[in-house]
Amino acid sequence: MDATTQSSTVSEALLEVNGTPVPYSEGGRVLGALREAGYDVPTLCYESRLDPQGTCRMCLVDVEVDGRVTQVASCTAFQQPGMKVTTHSDELKQYRRTILDMLLSETGPQAECPKCLSFKTCDFHSATDEYEADAGWLKPIAPRAKALDPNPFIQRDYDFCIGCFRCTNVCNDWEMAGAITVDGRSQNSKIFSFFDNELLQSPCTFCGQCINTCPTGALTDKKIVGKTVAEKLERTKTICPYCGVGCGIQLLTQDGELKGSEPDFTAPSQGSLCVKGQFGSWDFVKSADRLTTPLIRKNGELQPASWDEAISLVASKFEHYKDTDGPDSLVLWASARVTSESNYLMQKFARVAVGTNNIDNCSRT
Ligand code: SF4
Ligand code: SF4
Ligand code: SF4
Repeated sequence: MDATTQSSTVSEALLEVNGTPVPYSEGGRVLGALREAGYDVPTLCYESRLDPQGTCRMCLVDVEVDGRVTQVASCTAFQQPGMKVTTHSDELKQYRRTILDMLLSETGPQAECPKCLSFKTCDFHSATDEYEADAGWLKPIAPRAKALDPNPFIQRDYDFCIGCFRCTNVCNDWEMAGAITVDGRSQNSKIFSFFDNELLQSPCTFCGQCINTCPTGALTDKKIVGKTVAEKLERTKTICPYCGVGCGIQLLTQDGELKGSEPDFTAPSQGSLCVKGQFGSWDFVKSADRLTTPLIRKNGELQPASWDEAISLVASKFEHYKDTDGPDSLVLWASARVTSESNYLMQKFARVAVGTNNIDNCSRT
């Protein structure tokens, strides 16, 4: 359960968010209650799959308990029965705007943000737009240095890094890869792989979790950044076809052309992908070698045939070998790339129609 999800142990007790009553959820965070009440606050360091950090302070809210008002980070603070939460007082809005002004003063210009340009408006710039942040009154600070990393998958443009450390947390605590960490402090901190090596020389599995959690344009998919236009990009939820695990993905298309993939965070895989689902090639979809019709070998040459013709031929061959050599002379292989129902039917066909237990599936090997 993350902080935005009310637990199932909801009691009769209530708390209030901006005057709206919300059921108190034991062990629930204040962030979950305010989202339950239909309000939201920006969260830059928050990653719903990990323990909250409470470091970016964007989700700060006022809470009143027993007449005493304090300000708390709503992602870390626990709910209390009777608590009164205020999310958008003038003071809180000014506080968030000031943080965003400061972050803007130390990052590259929004007009050049790779995520906003090629994918969708990043969380950071969504917040700066919403709060009309403007760093004009602050002395600009040099952005963090870019990482010159020749890996083929991840663009590391730390001009846009805001030091939220979601990437290192997800790499260490979710992917368990331990490929990146934080070096230095404050504005001198930077995302660092061992001995400042390139990612290819680190334990990086190229799962892409860091680029998907990064709330800015600091980390993006190098294979497609700069080749897509955020406003034109369409997302279609589907299942990764590369293996039997069946992780949820979203295919990215632009003008009908397949550009790449992203995780589907609503799928049971919770956004996790391996390198194939995240960065695998989709060229096979439009490959000239792709079979679009059955082929039957005639006179030594493979020739296009209709589905009826092909299925009749296979059925006659099954009958022939079953009759002449017995059912166990045949073996059937199911596929991880089709549905569970299709695999079920395949084993039923093997056992009942053919009469053999020689049935297996490619996902087992
Ligand atoms: S791609 Fe995965 S393993 Fe590599 S740095 Fe990012 S989160 Fe870590
Ligand atoms: S690279 Fe992205 S996720 Fe990592 S610290 Fe910087 S802004 Fe946060
Ligand atoms: S993302 Fe990787 S593990 Fe998941 S279905 Fe695709 S190939 Fe299998």
